Amino acid sequence: MTVTEIPVPQTPAQQLDAIEQQADAEIQAIISAAVAAGLSGAAILAVLAALTNAVSTAAQQGFTVGAQIVLQGAAGRRARMRQLAIEPLPTSVEEDVRAVVEDVARRIDAAIAGEAPDTTSAPVTPTPANVELDRFRRRMRILAVTKIHQAASSATFSYARWLGLDLEWVTRRDGKACTVCASMNGRRVPAGEKFANPRAPGVPRRLWAGFQGLPPTHPSCRCRVIPRT
Ligand SMILES: [Zn+2]
Repeated sequence: MTVTEIPVPQTPAQQLDAIEQQADAEIQAIISAAVAAGLSGAAILAVLAALTNAVSTAAQQGFTVGAQIVLQGAAGRRARMRQLAIEPLPTSVEEDVRAVVEDVARRIDAAIAGEAPDTTSAPVTPTPANVELDRFRRRMRILAVTKIHQAASSATFSYARWLGLDLEWVTRRDGKACTVCASMNGRRVPAGEKFANPRAPGVPRRLWAGFQGLPPTHPSCRCRVIPRT
């Protein structure tokens, strides 16, 4: 007789963590495969579609978690608006991934061109091109996290607006929130309204352009919004 494992119910934060990890594993595998035959700008550009697809899939999963945050507690609640309008992301997955990939391809080609062949000494390790590659891996990881959380916020905001629910900003409770996020924690807005820029000591006047009234406030921010009746 076999014992079937019963899945433990996961919190939205745990679900988002799992989506992040899965996306990163996929992204890193795509990058590794891309450069297996040699590192070049062209090799990086060749996986633009695969990387876009990986981030897009992860963002879709983030969107589902964001929608569930609202819908699970809203059984029997009637929509206040006739149609559900989905709030677009501040910038699309396609344009963000393309911007990073094209920038990295240029940097890697420039790094390779600058690595003058020197026959008198052993090659420098890591090479400038390898440094760029490592940086690319980190940038893609951060981008995926950011898009997952933007998509989750878009879904929570859109469904809450549809149902007429207020929103509350919540930071992750691991005590690592930055000044900006800490000042947003616990704030509430009425249904359909976005959050104004925080005004608090230590908060810069100009915030990250990707922050447009909903989490994340900065790349890698793990803040969320939750509905309040
Ligand atoms: Zn945050």
